[in-house]
Amino acid sequence: MADRYAVIGNPISHSKSPWIHAQFACATGQDMDYGRLEAPPGGFARAVDEFRAQGGRGANVTLPFKQDAFRYATKRTERAQAAEAVNTLRFDGAEVLGDNTDGVGLLRDLTVNAGRAVEGRRVLLMGAGGAAQGVVAPLLEAKPARLVIANRTAGKARALARRFPGAVGGGYEDVADAEFDILINATSAGLAGEAPPLATNAFARGAIAYEMVYGRDTPFLAMARDCKAETRDGMGMLVEQAAESFLVWRGLRPPTGPVLAALRGG
Ligand code: NAP
Repeated sequence: MADRYAVIGNPISHSKSPWIHAQFACATGQDMDYGRLEAPPGGFARAVDEFRAQGGRGANVTLPFKQDAFRYATKRTERAQAAEAVNTLRFDGAEVLGDNTDGVGLLRDLTVNAGRAVEGRRVLLMGAGGAAQGVVAPLLEAKPARLVIANRTAGKARALARRFPGAVGGGYEDVADAEFDILINATSAGLAGEAPPLATNAFARGAIAYEMVYGRDTPFLAMARDCKAETRDGMGMLVEQAAESFLVWRGLRPPTGPVLAALRGG
């Protein structure tokens, strides 16, 4: 019987993860079955318990359950510990490993797929929610010249930055006069048809604007194009974080290029 995996969230019907993992399993010859699991609010632990009882071997976790997954894990990787959020669970008998692959997904997409170095660059990270939390440590490991976290609720950005020596946090007004080489939108503003309140002078010459939201044109991407920045949406991050989860579960990294190309083409 195929090994069972699932992505757990609410809502979850939109998720591309089952399709992505089916491509990975096919490319690597793994016998896997990967489905969607919608857990009700407050019902994460029970849903995962049931899935494990039915033979589930691992899961991806998405909004709004990444903190629940962090608590559910009995053992956590260093990067999950740093993020205080878990997007990947692996079930090994009674032990539940919690990992966070969002950060490595972003970094691989930015540095390998888009060919952009982070070392020595001025980086602005917008947002201080789960997605932003997951990428601060890997961004710092890539040795940027500066890492500034800006958030609508400035106190959350300051609190996040305090956890990571080397990062500074504040509100958008604090970066009104600064310019950046890499601008990462880790807010959900695009889903509401809005852009973070960023000054147009924030885009340095040759900058790249990275929008974590994928599959739609957002006001942030439009603003970045107007400012002559290169733009990239979060589809590559989605595929790369999935590949890293696959590695955690199956011990091998699937090829991501064809999957990303197919998603972009379709
Ligand atoms: P979250 O925990 O709900 O945090 C949302 C963040 O967006 C907060 O910092 C919030 O600021 C900010 N925000 C919301 N509306 C805003 C607006 N109109 N203007 C300025 N800031 C606004 O969500 P999350 O888990 O961090 O996810 C954020 C986005 O990243 C989502 O859209 C998600 O789809 C995307 N994502 C993509 C990937 C991928 O693989 N591509 C992976 C993870 C997440 P306040 O604190 O002030 O409320």
